[in-house]
Amino acid sequence: MKVSKCSPRKILNPCILEAHNYQVDPYIGCEHYCSYCYALNKAETDWEKEILIHEDIIGQLYQEMNSLEPQSIYMGMNSDPYQPSEKTFKQTRKVLELLAERGFSVCILTKSGLVTRDIDLLRKMPDSSVGVSITFQEERTRQMFEKNAPSNRVRIEALKELKNSGIATYTLICPVMPFITNLESVIEQVAPFSDTIWVYRLNMESEETANWQSLQSILNKHFPELTEQYQKIAFSRNHPFWKEIRQKLKEIQKKKCLNLRIRIE
Ligand code: SF4
Repeated sequence: MKVSKCSPRKILNPCILEAHNYQVDPYIGCEHYCSYCYALNKAETDWEKEILIHEDIIGQLYQEMNSLEPQSIYMGMNSDPYQPSEKTFKQTRKVLELLAERGFSVCILTKSGLVTRDIDLLRKMPDSSVGVSITFQEERTRQMFEKNAPSNRVRIEALKELKNSGIATYTLICPVMPFITNLESVIEQVAPFSDTIWVYRLNMESEETANWQSLQSILNKHFPELTEQYQKIAFSRNHPFWKEIRQKLKEIQKKKCLNLRIRIE
């Protein structure tokens, strides 16, 4: 993997998620290269070959945080903070060290077990939380859509270790893949180790986007019978399929008394 310096840009950026004002992406691009990833639509490099890093992430972040009150910063919006290059470059760890030193907390989303390396820092940051994202209930299908990402087993093991270390945990089931994601099965696997489970639908912007093109080519190869239905469901929040999924999730929530946050609307 080639790792190059990015053009100068802000490190601390506004966050669209509830409860977070700012986010940091220590990497630009993501080696995991999931076929459905919305960030593929603004990729600056071919993520299978090259990703980018900030030249002086700590010096610059220190300046940008200067007048900010301590608060929780989100990490994992447009790239995985624990993708393989983090083992070498430690950009994420450097950010956490600075945030911890300044009294900030963090909310991390990853698909990697490498996050457990930083439990020492996370413990110093009260109110921090770490989540893993999971879409598929079994490995064979997962590898078709997320071939460069760690297995579910690795992600669930990481959740377990984090929870046992006293860190708040969550699972993000995103995106729900129509007729492929078995929600009951995924929920059953992650529930014992997740304080909260968020569920988001598959949501494609247009047929021209890179993530739809990449997803469609996998569907055509492995699930050709589903492509036509995906063309209707993935672009419409009002499709009856999503109404059924919402209902199903409400039933699961009632039956299992889970802290389920359903974001299928
Ligand atoms: S791990 Fe997350 S950011 Fe990286 S490619 Fe997959 S969905 Fe995108």
